[in-house]
Amino acid sequence: MISYDLNEIPSSILAIGAHPDDIEFNAFGTLAKWASVGSRIDMAIMTDGSKGSWDPDQNIDELKEIRRIEAKRAADTIGANLHFLNYVDGELEFNKDTVKTIAKLIRLVKPQMIITHDPFKKYRLHPDHRNCGQIVLDAIVAARDPHFLKDLNISHHRPHKILLFEPEVTDHLETIQEFMNTKIEALLKHKSQYITTMDITDPENPIQIMRFKNWIGELAHSAGNPIGKPAECFKLIEKV
Ligand SMILES: [Zn+2]
Repeated sequence: MISYDLNEIPSSILAIGAHPDDIEFNAFGTLAKWASVGSRIDMAIMTDGSKGSWDPDQNIDELKEIRRIEAKRAADTIGANLHFLNYVDGELEFNKDTVKTIAKLIRLVKPQMIITHDPFKKYRLHPDHRNCGQIVLDAIVAARDPHFLKDLNISHHRPHKILLFEPEVTDHLETIQEFMNTKIEALLKHKSQYITTMDITDPENPIQIMRFKNWIGELAHSAGNPIGKPAECFKLIEKV
């Protein structure tokens, strides 16, 4: 049974992705939709994006700075607040410290909804995606219960719901037909990733840009196939 489009739109959302552009690929249409009706959006990026280049001679400090600027431009398209956690790309660890850092962020931001990677997705290759999902889920437990992390001196906070993207099991869709362009616009802010993840070798070539837009459109239509509308797919956790 697949549900779609929450009856009650969350008034505040914290989306947490492993890398700059993960949220844009997987949940940005949904965030744009909710931002358009006045929800407050916070986006957190766990790592510095420092592995995101195929050029062996790439200056890594420059790459990190470029990716921060791109992420900010993407977040600005929907007026989202952006938080950089700055862990080293490819080396994100699921441990007490990272869980505490995210629990603190949750207690400070106090979102009704949290969106992140599904850590239970089978055969996932990238460790950061897996670890990010696991860190966030454990952090939600630590953030919501008052006897965890008393040393933070920040009152506990229980989000209402969780959406996991790239889900092992899809049970919820959010339709994004009016927000496809915003999603694509945000993705195209990540110019440093054109070659590695978007198959765009020449940004001036309109055919390549159109091919990318069509690909994102096809993904949304495929995700929304059960209801015949372009969508993003999730695992919904309603009891937090
Ligand atoms: Zn990623």
